[in-house]
Amino acid sequence: MSTITVEASKKYDIIVEENLLPRAGEEIRARFKKANQIMLVTDDTVDGLYGGIVSESLEKSGFTVHKYVFPHGETSKTFAVMVPLVEKMAELALTRSDLIVALGGGVTGDMAGFAASIYLRGIDFVQIPTTLLAAVDSSVGGKTAVDLAAGKNLAGAFHQPALVLCDYSTLFSLPEEEFSTGMAEVIKHGVLADRELFDFIAENDAKAHLGDIIPTNLVIKRRHVMEDEFDVGLRQLLNLGHTLAHAVEKLSNYEINHGNAVSIGLVAICKAAYAYGLAEEDITDRVVAVLKKYNLMTECPFTAAESVSVLLNDKKRSGQTINLAIPKRIGECYLYKMDVDKLEEFYRLAIG
Ligand code: NAD
Ligand code: MG
Repeated sequence: MSTITVEASKKYDIIVEENLLPRAGEEIRARFKKANQIMLVTDDTVDGLYGGIVSESLEKSGFTVHKYVFPHGETSKTFAVMVPLVEKMAELALTRSDLIVALGGGVTGDMAGFAASIYLRGIDFVQIPTTLLAAVDSSVGGKTAVDLAAGKNLAGAFHQPALVLCDYSTLFSLPEEEFSTGMAEVIKHGVLADRELFDFIAENDAKAHLGDIIPTNLVIKRRHVMEDEFDVGLRQLLNLGHTLAHAVEKLSNYEINHGNAVSIGLVAICKAAYAYGLAEEDITDRVVAVLKKYNLMTECPFTAAESVSVLLNDKKRSGQTINLAIPKRIGECYLYKMDVDKLEEFYRLAIG
């Protein structure tokens, strides 16, 4: 078992442990003595797998549990699905001492977290991630959001969880593709900040070492969140590979999932950064090999011109420059302000 403490605007623990779900109630009760009611938010797939275990554990610790189950998938991460949840909490008269528990992947965590941030101007919520992506990335850091017609994650709030309970035994029921999506972020963390992690997952099967790999990733995420909670500086490094990834997702009409898009973005940034003279080493081949090992796409099906025109509409753009996370070598990255006029030329060095 590992416990990692995050000290941001809120201080909270992340507990990473095998078979933690049956003890979820105990861990929550130990920290929330005054809570009576819990709104357990989960999607239909995760509910079928783990909803019962978690409800039972919460009830055993004296909580009254209400469940809000929504259809799985990104298309549910909307106001249309979130508003009835918030209305339900009001109907049940949940107070500021009560809790929301998000059981599931990033979709559940983002939506339940956003609901928690607005109900009564903010109540506590607990993240119980059940995807690798949620375990190493979305459950920690306090970004919450829903999607709008104009784009993903366009409405949201910063609202840190009050506790994160990561039972990595849940990850064994994940479809392979979803596991790979999480691995794209793990590999990103390695390239970004931890050469040892990168080498380890290159040489070993990540799935057999989740008890070590997840905490290592969370320590990296924690560092960026603690130093720059509101994403105005250092935290932007976590976007490594993501600038192009967002364009690839959009251009493919989301047929290329986030993990594959990040993977394509990582390869492109490594290659272009070296060719442009911004990196010390050409790490492209090593990065491609690890991404392929975890069944991720590495070739961009779109041209630099197509991609850049889409990414210039990205919300992260500020004025005439864009902040790119650039890998100097494996385990070390920095932010580079690039003129938007140079972007196409830059990506053309990698994706033609
Ligand atoms: P997801 O929540 O949709 O989960 C993926 C699929 O796996 C779903 O169909 C789900 O039902 C299923 N599933 C979940 N756990 C399972 C399990 N243990 N066994 C079997 N099936 C399971 O998607 P995701 O990839 O976890 O998260 C993606 C979302 O996260 C996106 O909306 C993205 O914007 C968001 N995100 C947020 C942050 C943040 O900092 N807040 C960071 C990264 C991504
Ligand atoms: Mg990502």
